[in-house]
Amino acid sequence: MISEDYISKEAICQTPWKGPLSKSHYKAIGITLTLCFALSLATNSHFYGSDEDEVSTGSQASTQEFALQSGEYLDDDTPLTQAFGIESKKGQFENYDDSLSDDLLADSDASLDKEVSDLAQKVDKDDSAKNFDSKWVTESVQSGDNISSLFEDLNVPASTLAAILDNKKVAKSINNLKIGENLSFLVNGKGELLVFIKPINDKEQLRFFKADNTGKYSYVREKLGSYEMDDDATVAAKAVAAAPAKVEKSDKADTKSATVLADNKKAAPAVDDTPKEMSSAKRGRLVVVNIEKGETFSQAANRAGVTYSEINKILQMFKGKIQFSRNIRAGDTMRVLFTDSKGKGKICAVEFKLSRGGKIASYLNTQDGKYYDERGLMATRSAGFVRFPFRGRVKVTSQFNPRRLHPVTGRVRPHNGVDFGLPVGSVVTAPADGVVDKAVFSRTAGYYIVLRHAGGVSTVYMHLSKMSVKPGQRVKQGTQIARSGNTGISTGPHLHYEVRLGGRAVNPLRVKLAGGGAEINTKARRAFAASVQKYKRELYQKNLMAKR
Ligand SMILES: [Zn+2]
Repeated sequence: MISEDYISKEAICQTPWKGPLSKSHYKAIGITLTLCFALSLATNSHFYGSDEDEVSTGSQASTQEFALQSGEYLDDDTPLTQAFGIESKKGQFENYDDSLSDDLLADSDASLDKEVSDLAQKVDKDDSAKNFDSKWVTESVQSGDNISSLFEDLNVPASTLAAILDNKKVAKSINNLKIGENLSFLVNGKGELLVFIKPINDKEQLRFFKADNTGKYSYVREKLGSYEMDDDATVAAKAVAAAPAKVEKSDKADTKSATVLADNKKAAPAVDDTPKEMSSAKRGRLVVVNIEKGETFSQAANRAGVTYSEINKILQMFKGKIQFSRNIRAGDTMRVLFTDSKGKGKICAVEFKLSRGGKIASYLNTQDGKYYDERGLMATRSAGFVRFPFRGRVKVTSQFNPRRLHPVTGRVRPHNGVDFGLPVGSVVTAPADGVVDKAVFSRTAGYYIVLRHAGGVSTVYMHLSKMSVKPGQRVKQGTQIARSGNTGISTGPHLHYEVRLGGRAVNPLRVKLAGGGAEINTKARRAFAASVQKYKRELYQKNLMAKR
């Protein structure tokens, strides 16, 4: 069996390499090309690989080696001189056709782009996700990246990066990128960056956030990975970003408010008319809340040492399962288990014992940081997103580029997707579960499809030869939706593929959708089941409670 380690999918989007090649590189590339050619003959010009994003099990060194090839996938048609970067091949694969009028040159013209974007913004009625227009995404730094190119992949306005770099003291750390480090972004549908997280060393990260609606960014320096990128954080970040600017603050006050925010990042307490929050410092790993007569759930919980942001989190956890104002009465109990003692750490299990409703519990799945009931992991698991809407690997013929300039006219002609050099008739599959929004013909895009997925994500497929789905139809991840083609304005067979967040195009090859691809495998399910058993025991271990 031929190993396919020789090119990782991540290598597809490496920037072209320009320097001279060593002998061993030539050798390696030569071998690769031979293998590719042999394989292409054997598989009818297709390179099948695993559907998984992380197919490469090779060492860092071998990945690097092949990343040194041109940025795009090489096939046997590519002249060696170009393959080795000896001849400039910039724009070679771009789908421009200069004999066409200017407004016909783009893959997606302005009106089509607006239409697709509008479709992409629609909320899926079956998807109650309140944060449909905001999404956490991460990008890993690769060689050749710089901070502006990473922002560009997300299609975030350049002025945003400028506003972040306005924090002069840390501007240097922002520009200092390390290969493999993960940058996280919370972007809303309007393309506004709400939160940006940048590691600065192996222990710390900078978290930038919009502290008010003025467009400026504040930041905190905090422990690496200490900020949870979950729905609560999204809600809190949106609330903070929309707040009106505070008047006249000294520098000191600024720092202070940032620190408070860091401690209380999930702000927005459920109950704000209560005078003082009880300190959590004296609690143990286990907190048992007894609801007494005349007390609300929140009051009882806070009296026992659960903070309001934690109470808010618990309310979210049991939304739709417990009606707090009605189901909870005096005599009911709640047990909360934390990861650490003395009021520190995060919640790892919550169990209610209700006179009406019996026992109901929620447990932390450390894998994704989310809470599930004992069997919930199976029921709510989503198949996530796979990187490519087809099987196997193909060369990228034109990269995502929101600021692409037309070579002749010099005008900005954004390329809102990525072009894959798929031969006509190749099977196109849904990268995630979704609903078909559009499956029609347009003069420029040819036969094209728009799929809408959960969480405000949608995907677009253009220049198809055959459509296998109809508008309104639900599709599962991996279902065939079309066959690729060369319809509309296109200079050769290819699939134009777009990923949009809340209607805004982002780089499909770079952006990792939070939770996407993180399929809950058997191993993870077993690990979760084991934790649940442990949590269940600990919820009743008296010695984990604080001594009074
Ligand atoms: Zn395209």
